[in-house]
Amino acid sequence: MIVVLTGAPGAGKGTQADLLAAKEGFRKVSTGDALRKHVRMKSPIGLQAEAVMARGELVSDEILFEILREELGPDSGERILLDGYPRNVAQAKTLDSLKETHPVVAAIHLDVDAGELVNRLSGRRVCGNCGATYHVTLTPSKTAGVCDKCGGLLQQRADDREDSVRTRLSVYESTTKPVLEYYRGKGLYQRVDGLGSTEEVFGKLKGSLSGVKFR
Ligand code: AMP
Repeated sequence: MIVVLTGAPGAGKGTQADLLAAKEGFRKVSTGDALRKHVRMKSPIGLQAEAVMARGELVSDEILFEILREELGPDSGERILLDGYPRNVAQAKTLDSLKETHPVVAAIHLDVDAGELVNRLSGRRVCGNCGATYHVTLTPSKTAGVCDKCGGLLQQRADDREDSVRTRLSVYESTTKPVLEYYRGKGLYQRVDGLGSTEEVFGKLKGSLSGVKFR
C-alpha cells in the first residue's frame, strides 16, 4: 500500500518521510535518493540522469519506471511512503497500473509557499557521507560544514543552486501540480500545511494519516 507524499521541492517531504519511517513503521521510497545512488555508483542510469538532475529538470519517465519497480519490489503488504513520485500525470497513471500489488491509498500534499521554498532550498546542506540534512540558519550543524552525526563534510546539492532551484520550482508548477488534481479526482487528496517546525509538521501529518484506510 502506498501513501504518495507530494509537494514542491523544499517542502520537507524527505525529512518527514524519514521521520514517518523511523516512528510510524513506513518504508520510505524516494526516487530522488535512488537516482542519486545511481549517480554515485556511475551506473548506466546514473550517467544518463546526472546532468538532467543538476539542471533541475525531470529525468525521463522510462528511467523512473525502472527505478520505481526496482525500489517498490514485490508486494509484501508493507506501508510504503513514496517521496518524489509521481512528478507528472503520466507517472501517476503508471503508478496506477501497479495497483494490484501496490495500490495508492492516499496522496498527501505538503503545502509550503514559494518564498519559503527558495529560502529552504538555498540554505540546505547535505552530508556527503551519511546524507543527513541541515539548513545553514534553520537547523545548522554544531560545527559549520561538518555533520553532527558522522563528521562527514556538508555539501550543497548541485540542484540546490539558484538556477536549478528556479527550474525545479517552475517544473513543479507546470508539471507536478496537475498531479494534485489527479488525486483529488480520485478522492485520495489531502492537504497538510507544511509551515512550522519539523515536529509540528510531523504532528499534522500523523493526524492526516490517522484517517487513511489501509486495507
Ligand atoms: P528530489 O530529491 O525528489 O528533489 O529529486 C531530485 C531530482 O531527481 C529531481 O529534480 C529530478 O531531476 C529527479 N527526479 C526525482 N524523482 C523524479 C521523478 N519522479 N520524475 C522525474 N525526475 C525525478
